[in-house]
Amino acid sequence: MSAKGSKTRLYEVLELQPGASEPEIKKAYRKLAMKYHPDKNAHNPEAGEKFKEVGHAYEILSDPQKRQIYDQYGEEGLNGEGGMGGGMSAEDLFSQFFGGMGGGMGGMFGGGMQPQGPRKSRDIVHVHKVALEDLYKGKVSKLALQKSVLCPKCDGRGGKEGAVKKCAGCNGVGMKTMMRQMGPMIQRFQTACPDCNGEGEIIRDKDRCKHCNGKKTVTERKVLHVHVDKGMADGQKVTFKEEGDQGPDIIPGDVVFIIEQKAHDRFERKGDDLYYNAKIDLLTALAGGSIAIEHLDERWLTVSILPGEVISPGTIKQIRGQGMPSYRHHDHGNLYIKFDVEFPPDHFNTPEQLALLDNILPPRRQPEVPQDAMVEDVVLEEVDARDQARAHHGASGMDDEDEDMHGGAERVQCASQ
Ligand SMILES: [Zn+2]
Ligand SMILES: [Zn+2]
Repeated sequence: MSAKGSKTRLYEVLELQPGASEPEIKKAYRKLAMKYHPDKNAHNPEAGEKFKEVGHAYEILSDPQKRQIYDQYGEEGLNGEGGMGGGMSAEDLFSQFFGGMGGGMGGMFGGGMQPQGPRKSRDIVHVHKVALEDLYKGKVSKLALQKSVLCPKCDGRGGKEGAVKKCAGCNGVGMKTMMRQMGPMIQRFQTACPDCNGEGEIIRDKDRCKHCNGKKTVTERKVLHVHVDKGMADGQKVTFKEEGDQGPDIIPGDVVFIIEQKAHDRFERKGDDLYYNAKIDLLTALAGGSIAIEHLDERWLTVSILPGEVISPGTIKQIRGQGMPSYRHHDHGNLYIKFDVEFPPDHFNTPEQLALLDNILPPRRQPEVPQDAMVEDVVLEEVDARDQARAHHGASGMDDEDEDMHGGAERVQCASQ
């Protein structure tokens, strides 16, 4: 049998028996690669060749798929593989194995074998809607989650201890490379291993865990306590590290709750500030009075408008320290109040009584018309229904466009700066 046809030569290079375990292969490579490394063998010209051979043997035997092909067909089976001819250089392989950079001897004693990180299951992300009241006061939400956990009956093995065997047909990979003779060609293709249905393992039926039916995991309901802290913001995340799905040989992902602030019917929030729209009557606007605001905890704020203080429609005032608590420090922002003034209806009083207003309100502003202007008397009437929409649209189009686009609070903020 030619060297190429041998199915044991690579094992011999590593001084191993066929069927050696993965750790044995690693150990053998570690020992021999260090023994024959060119840096250590300046006056042994044969060591260089040996070093390459050891690397080549390890490259194939450490890769379960390549090893499987080698075990079945020898190196001939591997030659068809495009990448094989130009495989990794012995130096690169060596430095990768020992975690060193640049292939010298430098990294080999410090770094040791770099284990490839285990897979992580995907994060479970959930949007948690929270009322503004709860963001003001803080609360703990109990949220239930269905997740996979390692089966407690078999400790995630899927069966009795020792009953789960690595599938010999695919060497535990779950995939199998098959070869087919097509005339003079040998065609290779990959397929799910028929012996283990692609699982990579075989459990005898009688040893299979009854609790998880050999699946290794079961679904469990877990209640998580999500601390919605005072002052948390919309979009903030609460992360439970590694509370995601468990599985054999994987690190569970995280469970992430994204706080979503629900819209509120009284307040609007910007950062730590609150915005409130208050509607007051004309008398209060002109001569003082008070308003009451239901806050986000159980308090009501009563706010006095002192006689002498005139509130025009759109006026914005602030109450210091009545906004949201800041996250962590709980310093309160401000409460901004935007006033809307409700005017009395038509004919709310007699012309005689209304004339009394002349005594107390500032005098009427007289129309200013240039002396030489042409003057025409016109009549003011109610807008008829057909023109209503146009009238409103026109008015907002002229000076209130901002309000439509950004909402009232944006304006409040600009005005308060
Ligand atoms: Zn298999
Ligand atoms: Zn089980």
